[in-house]
Parts: sequence; C-alpha cells; structure tokens
Amino acid sequence: MGNLNRFSRRRAHEVRIGNVVVGGDNPIAIQSMTNTPTADVEQTVAQTVRIASAGAPIVRLTAQGRKEGEALAAIMNRLREERCPAAIVADIHFTPEIAMIAAEAVDKVRINPGNFRTTGDDLERLIEICRRRGVALRIGVNHGSLAKRIFDEWGDTPEGMVASAMEFLHRCRRADFHNVVVSMKSSNTQVMVYAYRLLVEAMAKEGMTYPLHLGVTEAGDGIEGRIKSAVGIGALLADGIGDTLRVSLTEDPENEVPVGEVIARYFERREGEFEVLHPERYSPTKYAPRTMAKPVIHSEVTEEYVVVDATSGNPTAEWRAAILNREDERPVVIRRRYDIADRELVAIYAAADMGALLLDGLADGVWVDAPALGEAELNDIELMILQASRRRFSRTEYIACPSCGRTLYDIQTTLAEIKARTSHLKDLKIGVMGCIVNGPGEMADADYGYVGSSPEHITLYRGREIVERNIHQSEALDHLIDIIRRDGRWHDPE
Ligand code: SF4
Repeated sequence: MGNLNRFSRRRAHEVRIGNVVVGGDNPIAIQSMTNTPTADVEQTVAQTVRIASAGAPIVRLTAQGRKEGEALAAIMNRLREERCPAAIVADIHFTPEIAMIAAEAVDKVRINPGNFRTTGDDLERLIEICRRRGVALRIGVNHGSLAKRIFDEWGDTPEGMVASAMEFLHRCRRADFHNVVVSMKSSNTQVMVYAYRLLVEAMAKEGMTYPLHLGVTEAGDGIEGRIKSAVGIGALLADGIGDTLRVSLTEDPENEVPVGEVIARYFERREGEFEVLHPERYSPTKYAPRTMAKPVIHSEVTEEYVVVDATSGNPTAEWRAAILNREDERPVVIRRRYDIADRELVAIYAAADMGALLLDGLADGVWVDAPALGEAELNDIELMILQASRRRFSRTEYIACPSCGRTLYDIQTTLAEIKARTSHLKDLKIGVMGCIVNGPGEMADADYGYVGSSPEHITLYRGREIVERNIHQSEALDHLIDIIRRDGRWHDPE
C-alpha cells in the first residue's frame, strides 16, 4: 500500500470512458446508476439526463436481457440528441452475448467474473469489440456472487474476490488490453476494504496499474447509508486508493451524486506528515485488533480509555501514527472537532476520517465533537459509525439494494415500511433486495431476506434458505415478521 506517513495517491494508468478519463491525476469521477426499465428508452434517457445534470460524469444502466441490450443503441442516440455528456456504462450479468451487443453501443461494459458464463474465448471476443470501438471494461467483482469454482477454493472471502479479479485481469493482459477498471464491492465494509487493499497488493506484485472503482453495495438509505459508504470508501481514499466511485443508496439515483462528490472532494488534499515509528505493527491486509476493549461512543468514555485528538488536514494518518507509536496498550478513542452545523456533512466527514482506524482495529471508540449538533444526534452518529465499521451493532442492519432496471417492486417505500416495523430488533441483518437474480447473492450474510421474485411478489429467506416463495407484497412483511417470531428472534418495540 502507499505511504503510511502521509497521503499519496496510488498511481493508476488512465482509462478512457467516453469523454471521461479516470486514473492518472484525474479527479475521482462520480457515478450513479439508473433504476428505470432499460427497455423503456424515453424513461431511461430522462433519468440519465437527470443524473448527469446532478453532476455525475458516468452513468450506468442495467442490461439484463436481449431486449435491454438492444435498447442501448437507441438510448445512446437519444442521449446525443439531448446533448447529454455522460459516459454510459452497461451493467451485464450472466450473458456474454448481451455484453457484446452492449459493447457495440456504449462507452464501457461492466461484467461480473462471478457470473459471466465464460466458455472458450468469449471474454477475448468481447475485448476485441471493446478495442475496436475504444470501449472500456470493468471487471466488477461482488462479494456474494463469486463463481462456484472460486468459492470452493477460497470461500466467500476477500482473497477469493482477488483471485476472481486477477483471473480476468490476466486474460485482459494476455490480450494486451488495458482499458480496464476493477471493483471489489461488498455490503460489508471490512470485506470491501480488505479486498481492495489485497487487490492493490496483488496487482503491484505483477506490475499492474489498473484504476479502481470504489463502492459499498446495498448501503441502505438516509444517514445510515451515507455513513456506511463514507466508512468504506473513505478508508480507501484516505490511503490514496480509488479513481472513480459510486455511493449506492436506496433512494433516487440523483441523490447519490452529491454524496459521492462530498466524499471524493474531501480526500483531494490531505496535508501533513506523521511518522509511524513502528510500521511493523501495522498490516493493511490483516485485521489485528489492538485491544479487546468494548468499542465506545463519547458519552461512555471511562478512565480506561485514552482520547487522541487529530487536528491536522489528514486525521486518518495523524491518528494512525499516534496510535501505532504508543508504547502502552490502553484502548484509544479518536476525537475530532467539526465546526459544521449540517448533520449529514458532520456524519459523512467523521465516518470518512474515522472508518479506517476502526476497520483496522486500531481505535476502540469515536468522539465526534460537533458543538452545533445536539447530544442525541452525536450519540446516534457515533453509534452508526461503529456499526458501519462492524465494531458494535446497536440497531437492525438493513442490506438494501439501490434498485436498478431489474427491480420488481417499489423498494424505497417498502424499505421504509420494513424499517418502521423492525428497526427495534438489535443484532438482526435484514436484506431488502429488488430481484431474485442477484439479490440472494448480494445480500450476503443477512439473517433474513425480502427479495423480489416476480412483479409485486416476494420470496422470503432465512439466511440462504428460501422459507416462502412468491407471496404477494401486501402480505410479505407480515409473513417476514411471523418467521422472525417463530425463530424466537422477535420482541415487541418498547
Ligand atoms: S439486487 Fe437486483 S434489483 Fe437490486 S440492484 Fe442488484 S440487480 Fe438491481
């Protein structure tokens, strides 16, 4: 990984995506994704224009079948008529033929090595189309949808994700094709951060400099979704890793763009030099908690904990050096003052600054010192940062997909209804996913799953096991609660 003592951006080679260049010294490009049915050209064009106007230079569209793949050419024509400058990416799962149709129309094609049914030379044929048309490729690995062969060897681990990406990168390199971006997404911030860091290490060993697309999948909505994204993405950007990013929220896609902008711009400059005297005490790719103390928020700090402030322009490096240089083993609470009145901004900045220290097990508590916010708001933000960093679970966790052209029901309203009935259940993870094709894999380690299986019909899961199939949406939430009740994991709200 980069320099422990100061901020330095990882050198990635430039990749052109339509009018946008990512990697090199280019600013981090923000992306979002449409959630309209892609075959509906006018609706998709209108939403793409809205997302681009919100400030995203790159917009992704799902193309799940031939109908959607073939609509892409018409969408590109209409976007040109609208003078929409956005670079367009087609998101492909499963079918190489659709990827090849898409590559004839769009600026970039995203494939998932976990489900790209590669037999023979179809990846190489796709590469040839990309080369001829100047189209970029994203090797987009997702935790939870690894190929069976990789899963059997590595399990559902960051190492498995890296093996999956490297296999495809080797094939790109053999074909002398380098217009490639890589992503390693997960809804689990710890898996996500370690997967990217391991990939950076693996690529560096082989002299590869592919740019990286960052994202936490299924982050949810509202302030929780923003904090979860800021923790994962911020932990990587703080070390100069990342060239383009998407914040995935279960909200209108236009909402994702300003959040992405805030996070990306926050890491453009990080000033200061903080010498780590014992670099051997730290590994970016191995989780080794420094103490076994309970992770705390500011109102719980006792004498047992030491409070370490960061006042510089690079709080992450400042805290890391201060903690690694300590000669005692007392648990550390990291504190920083934010003179901002906007609750959402305080939450995003604090999550982005503090996430890496929590994910690495270096800090055992957070203290967000923002005098403009109330005590209850600060407690809430701190608890959410601890939860997003997977250090302390104090509320139900929702792994909710952002929705896309495959979504089979109104996921925003449904998520709000599910939250209203279940958010008092601590220690539960509930997946709320738009489609049965990718949903069950992507909700990864959820305890229960609410997954769209046909229009307005839901299939309910316990872990990875289907409990009830294809029930109407009007009954699905009651049935989910019954299942939780039967499992003895329900209690009424206080
Ligand atoms: S789970 Fe399905 S509907 Fe949701 S974002 Fe993923 S592919 Fe789209």
